[in-house]
Amino acid sequence: MRKNMNHIVTIDGPAGAGKSSVAKDIARQLKYQYIDTGAMYRAMALQAMRKKIPIQNEKKLLTHLKSTKISFKNKKNINCIFVNGKEETQAIRSPEATHGSSAIAVHKGIRKMLVKKQQDMGRAGGVVMEGRDIGTVVFPQARFKFYLDASPLERARRRYKELKAKNMPANLNKIAASIKERDQRDSARQTSPLRPAADAVIIDTTPLSQKQVCQAILCHIDNVKKLMKKHETTDRHG
Ligand code: C5P
Repeated sequence: MRKNMNHIVTIDGPAGAGKSSVAKDIARQLKYQYIDTGAMYRAMALQAMRKKIPIQNEKKLLTHLKSTKISFKNKKNINCIFVNGKEETQAIRSPEATHGSSAIAVHKGIRKMLVKKQQDMGRAGGVVMEGRDIGTVVFPQARFKFYLDASPLERARRRYKELKAKNMPANLNKIAASIKERDQRDSARQTSPLRPAADAVIIDTTPLSQKQVCQAILCHIDNVKKLMKKHETTDRHG
């Protein structure tokens, strides 16, 4: 188990900091599995909306959502999410599911349920897991922890470009307001608030390209692995 922690990369940070594209790229380069935990909160919010369960009612949410099955499949380089066997990759990105995801994420019981699923998915190692609490709660013992941040305006601009590229409706002011609201909710909630782990490497991605952020992360991982190898050799030979 402890050895597996050397093969877990956690990437946390607020919305639009560049986590998803960087995490996918790192996973591809390390040949690890990419796991998007935000998609899991979005999936729960979507299910709640469809079942017309008020997002504030944790008891009802838990009763109706505890048997929800979430799985990921890589199709033509797109990370697809399946909820109870049905593909919902597009649907979880709607503004309603986006808003609902941070509202559902404040509930302790919902978090407990999803954290357990995430630990089951990543325990064996060989994963890059992206979210808000991966380095602090899901895998606090992971060897490689990163926290990406960027200025609020830059984060809103990135989300805008992302949505435009997918031909989805986008309005910069609305996106900025939604990001601000989610930031506040994610940072202020009682259970697992968004914050960097004490031992995370913090990267301000505002002035950096995706390639530069990936290079910084891979370089850090490489350096630590070399050091670990050196220590192993020294320990073996006294
Ligand atoms: O990363 P993404 O923007 O898709 O996440 C959607 C929402 O899910 C976040 O705003 C946050 O409230 C919640 N979330 C969380 N913990 C995670 C991942 C996401 O609370 N590990």
